[in-house]
Amino acid sequence: MDCEDVLDRLVALEEGELGPSEEELVRRHLAGCPTCATVSSRLGQSLPRPGLAVPLVVRNRLARLEASTLLAAADPLPSGRRARPATVSLPVPAAVGYAAVLVVVLAWGMANWRERAVLEARLALGPPQAAAAPEIPASDYRPAAWTPNPTPESP
Ligand SMILES: [Zn+2]
Repeated sequence: MDCEDVLDRLVALEEGELGPSEEELVRRHLAGCPTCATVSSRLGQSLPRPGLAVPLVVRNRLARLEASTLLAAADPLPSGRRARPATVSLPVPAAVGYAAVLVVVLAWGMANWRERAVLEARLALGPPQAAAAPEIPASDYRPAAWTPNPTPESP
C-alpha cells in the first residue's frame, strides 16, 4: 500500500469504516511514513465533524491537498537556489485546489437550495393556470357609445 492508497483511506480510517486487515495496512504505513502520519494527525483537527453532510469525495480531496502541501514543503530545494521565505506557506497548486474544493462545496449547496426553492415554488403555485383570454385585435376594436349631452327627459 503506497501513500496514494493510504491518503484515500485516511477519512475512512478516522471514521472507523475500514475493515480490520485494511486498517492494519494503513496503520503500518502511517507508522513508517512521516508525511502520511502528519496528514492523518492534521485531519483529526481540520475535518468537519461527521454531523456535517460533506460528501466523502470532498473530504478525501481535502486530505490529498493537505498531503500535497506537506510534500511540496518537504521538497529539497534545487542546489544554488536561495530558499524561499518561510512566509510562503501555500504552494499555488494547493491554493487553487482549496479554492476548487470551496467552489464545489458551494455549488453543491446552491444546487440543493435551488432544487428546494423550485419545488416549494411549484407547491405554492399549484397547477399551471389557464392562459388569459386573447387580446382583441385592433381592427375589431369599437369604442363604446358615449353621448356627451343626453337629451333631458321630458317632464
Ligand atoms: Zn505515506
